[in-house]
Parts: sequence; C-alpha cells; structure tokens
Amino acid sequence: MIPYGKQDVDQSDIHAVVSVLKSDFITQGPVVPAFERALADFCGTAHAVAVNSATSALHIACKALDVGIGDMVWTSPVTFVASANCALYCGASVDFVDIDPGTLNLSVECLTAKLELAERSGQLPKVVIPVHFAGQSCEMEAISKLARRYGFRIIEDASHAIGGRYQEGLIGNGRFSDITVFSFHPVKIITTGEGGMALTNDPALANRMQRLRSHGITRDECEMTAASDGPWYYQQIELGYNYRMTDIQAALGLSQSKRLKQFVERRNELALRYDRLLAGLPVTLQTLSSGCYSARHLYVVRLQLERIGRSRRDAFEAMRQRNIGVNLHYLPVYLQPFYSAMGFRQGYCVEAERYYAEAISLPLYPGLTEEEQDYVIENLREVLTA
Ligand SMILES: *Cc1c(COP(=O)(O)O)cnc(C)c1O
Repeated sequence: MIPYGKQDVDQSDIHAVVSVLKSDFITQGPVVPAFERALADFCGTAHAVAVNSATSALHIACKALDVGIGDMVWTSPVTFVASANCALYCGASVDFVDIDPGTLNLSVECLTAKLELAERSGQLPKVVIPVHFAGQSCEMEAISKLARRYGFRIIEDASHAIGGRYQEGLIGNGRFSDITVFSFHPVKIITTGEGGMALTNDPALANRMQRLRSHGITRDECEMTAASDGPWYYQQIELGYNYRMTDIQAALGLSQSKRLKQFVERRNELALRYDRLLAGLPVTLQTLSSGCYSARHLYVVRLQLERIGRSRRDAFEAMRQRNIGVNLHYLPVYLQPFYSAMGFRQGYCVEAERYYAEAISLPLYPGLTEEEQDYVIENLREVLTA
C-alpha cells in the first residue's frame, strides 16, 4: 500500500537518537533546548516551547492566554479534532467558522460576518485558532486586523505548515499571532515520533507555557510566594501538566530539522507534478494564494461528482483496492458525535460539508517516488473516467 503520508528517517537521525540514548540525559537534558533554539531561529521567533504533542501545545497555548470557563474559542471545522478540543480542555466552548471553498482555510469573510453578529450579542471569542490547512497559511494579516478590532487573541494551528511561508516570512514567526503551534507526528513535515512545539515572541507567554508543560512548577524565586528554602527548592504555583518532550525525541527532531527545507521543497515538487498531471481529470485542486508558500502536508482534490459516474465512497474504495492509501481530511469537527451531542447540526458550515462530500487526499511525502506517483495518477484516471 502506498500510504498517504510517511516519515523520512535516515541514518543521521538514527545516529542522533542513539547518541542521546548513550548520554547522561534521555529527558530534560540539553537537546530539548537545542531543538527549541533551532526552530525558533529557523522561523525567526524569539521563544519556542517543546512539548509531547501539538495537542498539548494547543492546550497550554489556550491556558497561557487564560482561556477558561465562559470563554469562547473559534476555529475551522475542516481540521483535526485537536484544534477544537483544546478549548474544551480549558472549560471554554467552541464554535466554528466556515471555510473558503478555494483555499479550504477558515474564510475571512465568514469570520468578519460572524464577529459582527457576535459583537451585537456580546459573545465575541477570546481566541481564534486559524488552521493552515494542508500547509498553506490562512490570511493572517486580515485575521490579525480583525483581532485588533474585536480584541481576540490568535493561536495559529500550523501543525501542517512548518517550513511554509506567508508574505516572505516563515510560518511561526509570530508576526500576525500570539502563539504558533507545530506538530511532529510522523505524518507531518518533520517528526519526533510524538511531539509538538509552541512558538511566541512574548516572553511572558513563553514562560507561562514552560511552567504549564511541567506541572505548574517554577524554580524562579521572583515567581515564588515566599523566599526559597535553598538550591533544591521549587514551588508549584498553578496546575500544570507533564507535557514535556524527551531528549530522545528532541534529538530526532533536531536531526530532522536539518532536512526540513529539503522535505518541503520535495513536497512542493511532487505537488506541482500532481497539479500538472491531473489537469484534465474531473477534480478541483486547492487554490493557492499569492504570497503563500505551502509546506504541502496534504495533497487534497475535490471530485467533480457530477462529471464522474460513481460516488466518492466508491472511488475512494476503488483506490484503496488498488493499494493506494488515499485518505480523507476531514469530517467537519462539529459533525463528530461528541460535538453533535453539544447541539451542532448538519448544515452548520455549508462549504465545509460540501468539501467533505467531495474530498480525497492523495499520497504525498518526500520519499514518494515519481513511479509511485504515476501509479496513483493512472489509477485515479481509471477510477474517475472508466
Ligand atoms: C496533527 C494535528 C494536530 C495534533 O497533532 P499531535 O501532535 O498529533 O497532537 C492538531 N491540529 C492539526 C491541524 C493536526 O493536523
């Protein structure tokens, strides 16, 4: 089976991990800060906080922005559930802003309209979480203008998007947001097995997230409620978690980060090759915005079902039968049973649902060969036009 996504681990990665295993520290050693520094420098951000998943990063990002009971967080419905769950972890409620049918990112028009309504009913969000779908940045300049106008904070869910660029800057540089989150799950652009990172230019937010990832404990006397008892002393001053990344994971991530640019370039080459070779097939491609360089985490196509003699389900299964690991990203989050039970109904975000009814993700990862890609394209052609 050709999978839809796959990590690229080479001998240098293995060597980096083995070195840590043979060293004095396999967690809480020097490699986590080195990995944090490397990615902060790469993105041009002041601070980076490594954690054990992007889900954890989203959680502590919400916490650091004081999201709590009674607050509202808005995100895109076309995302992985973690983009929404993080608000619920904090006791806040979640709402969804429909997508732009071209870029498949949260629509700035829908956001603007929803904010106007929310202002009138006194229900403005505290935080908005734009998700850079498939690796392409949302329209962050416009969203950040709305943030200033309506007073909300921004967490970029850039789980798909490390290595991508927006307006000449790397995604994660924090120019238009408070915090940016990356994922290092093996299907993402670079991996640490499990892992994530939160980047920010705000030292107070960085400090708060560092504390939250490790039980809410501080060793900084200035933050303590009383004088330190001695060099061994620490205080827990709030309720945090054990969300730390290990040095073993960070070694893999640091080693992978050296090939990050190369991975994203290869993904872009393969994606452009898909664009070219799929021309003429009854599929609609994701619109690429000017000023964006996508990290190309996913390659999604929308089937033009009225031109195809079979259902999406049927086409999907036919591809799987041909050993092509197509996938679907994503069922609108609010249609998950857990969210439906909160009162969300079919029809809530029309464009997200229309997209979901037509979408298929094709295999895309740096190790995909052109022969494999040709096999995918040939089979898609047969399935859609036979
Ligand atoms: C993968 C993903 C996450 C969660 O990442 P983990 O590191 O697996 O916790 C969050 N948001 C989006 C958009 C993702 O794709």
